[in-house]
Amino acid sequence: MSTPARVHVQPAETTDLSAGFLTRELSPGVFMISNGNYQTLFMTTGEGVVLLDAPLPLIEYLHEAIADVTTEKVTTMIYSHGHTDHIGGAFRMGDGIEIIAEAGTAEFLREKQDPARPLPTTIYDKETTLHIGNREVRLFRDGFHSADGDTVLYLPNEKVMVAIDLLAHGWVPLLDFDLSENIYSYMGAFDRFLAYDFDSFLSGHTADVASRDDVELTRRYVLDVYATVKRLHDEINTPELLAQHRDSEQAGIKFVIEEVVRRATAELTQRWADGPMKGVDLWTESHTRAMVLYVRWTD
Ligand SMILES: [Zn+2]
Repeated sequence: MSTPARVHVQPAETTDLSAGFLTRELSPGVFMISNGNYQTLFMTTGEGVVLLDAPLPLIEYLHEAIADVTTEKVTTMIYSHGHTDHIGGAFRMGDGIEIIAEAGTAEFLREKQDPARPLPTTIYDKETTLHIGNREVRLFRDGFHSADGDTVLYLPNEKVMVAIDLLAHGWVPLLDFDLSENIYSYMGAFDRFLAYDFDSFLSGHTADVASRDDVELTRRYVLDVYATVKRLHDEINTPELLAQHRDSEQAGIKFVIEEVVRRATAELTQRWADGPMKGVDLWTESHTRAMVLYVRWTD
């Protein structure tokens, strides 16, 4: 049996995407693969490779990336959630692979009947622990991102946690808190995940592996958006101000939303535009808008 070449495995300091992708080894046999934009996890077990998700942009590199580090083949795929951008390449993985999903994701996919997203062959409810070869893989349902449920993956022995679409290393969250469908759950997710003992954190984007510090930094930003929007909403949502600006109740609501978004975006941009995270100019306005809807109607 030949020894894999490992030519695509790069240390944290290096980001060479000339092959179209790279891998980083988080713990012996546990790898992140990234094309610079999307990232996901695969691991050897001694009894076949376990893969999380199948983003279409990564599928073309997966075979090469895996063969570069192991002679094992993919036997198990786990869906993090139902969105097309993370599992829309699953149909390319071939037949005969076990596909694991949480009950909420499975129900969504059963209704969708999308040939690109094959139905799971194994469905778990809320939480489960897999013992495959030499790995213990814990999966549990959360709701920070997809309304149909998110599967968070945790490797207790390797201290690796994966929560897809919570954050992006080095960046503020993408549009609308990474398109979260539940802001309340999203805001609480940082503390829920930080309660686990992990060193490496993957969230599905960039070519970098996040750390506890990155999770804490994004939490600080998100809670600053919340506190700022809540304070400004309390200040602006007064009968006198509303009376000046409305000729109907709906015009008043529109005024409050737009005014909170404007002032909160200006204030947060002052505090965060010079770092340490990129993307404030791109996404902070969407964060204040998503947050004012939450603060006014859900909080
Ligand atoms: Zn998603």
